Amino acid sequence: MKKAFSMILSLILLLSCVSVVFAAEPYNSFGAYEHVFILGIDGLGATFDKVDSPNFDRIFADNAYRHDAHTEYVTVSAQNWGSILTGVAYNTHGFNNGWCEENERDSSSGNNTIFYYARQAFPEAELVSFNNWDAINHGIIENDLGVKKINRGTDPLVVDAIVRYLEKGNTPKLMFVQLDSVDHAAHTYGGFSKQYYSAAEKADVYLGDIYDAINARGLMKNSLFILVADHGETTDGHGGQTKEESSAILAVAGHSVNKTELNENVHNRDVSAIALYALGIEQPSHMISSVPAELFGESREKTVAENPMSPALRGLRRILYFFVRMVNLLVGLFDR
Ligand SMILES: [Zn+2]
Repeated sequence: MKKAFSMILSLILLLSCVSVVFAAEPYNSFGAYEHVFILGIDGLGATFDKVDSPNFDRIFADNAYRHDAHTEYVTVSAQNWGSILTGVAYNTHGFNNGWCEENERDSSSGNNTIFYYARQAFPEAELVSFNNWDAINHGIIENDLGVKKINRGTDPLVVDAIVRYLEKGNTPKLMFVQLDSVDHAAHTYGGFSKQYYSAAEKADVYLGDIYDAINARGLMKNSLFILVADHGETTDGHGGQTKEESSAILAVAGHSVNKTELNENVHNRDVSAIALYALGIEQPSHMISSVPAELFGESREKTVAENPMSPALRGLRRILYFFVRMVNLLVGLFDR
């Protein structure tokens, strides 16, 4: 009896070891993505919570998001796009709209953007930034990194340029996009106007167009897709500290992204930490941006089907799981 028991224990040990080899696959999302796509919608705030946004729903319902992530304290575009791209607070990078429209930066300027770190990690990679409001390409993103900077004066032209860029076979390691028509509607008609909400609904269509163009290339299986806003709006624009102005969407989709609402402390500037982490780039210590603990989990079933483990190995893994369960059951019976 004692011999039988020790044999069973040995068997459990052996099967456990073997099953660990096949089953553990410790999922670490650091560097788990080949590409990161960041779509920034200027002035969108938390508005996708209030308007019909079917593309947002289909892309992010099964992923991670928070409608009212924190913005920078000064709810102005350059302050926030600066923090989103550099991972530091607005009063650290010091950008404002006028400065970014007037000045350029290079990689010696300090408070570098995630494009700088992506270039260091991937010297040959394709890096691209599409702007409607070109002050981001002009004054925030460094001009000596070989980032393709593509500026178009309306959102439809930006989206069209992105779709054609992807259709042509360009495959960026890191892509940033800024759309501006939602903010434009708020400045013209006010933040709670029907024109503003209608612009937000239109932005949802652009979101769908861009996401679908990435998907059409088969890139989403190893890409992280991030949606972010710089600030929200109130009746007379933005810049203040109302809840509406200082709330901004942050949504993340990818094969190892958990289905979850992000915690109430997330900031739009966390985009920089998330992007670097996904690409496997160590976050520089001066950045205060962080990866929400609940964001990444195991690679999900839809992607497990695409991972390199062969069907035969997956079958074997299932059989081993079954054996371990049976042995555990038997030992339970012996113990009685
Ligand atoms: Zn803005």
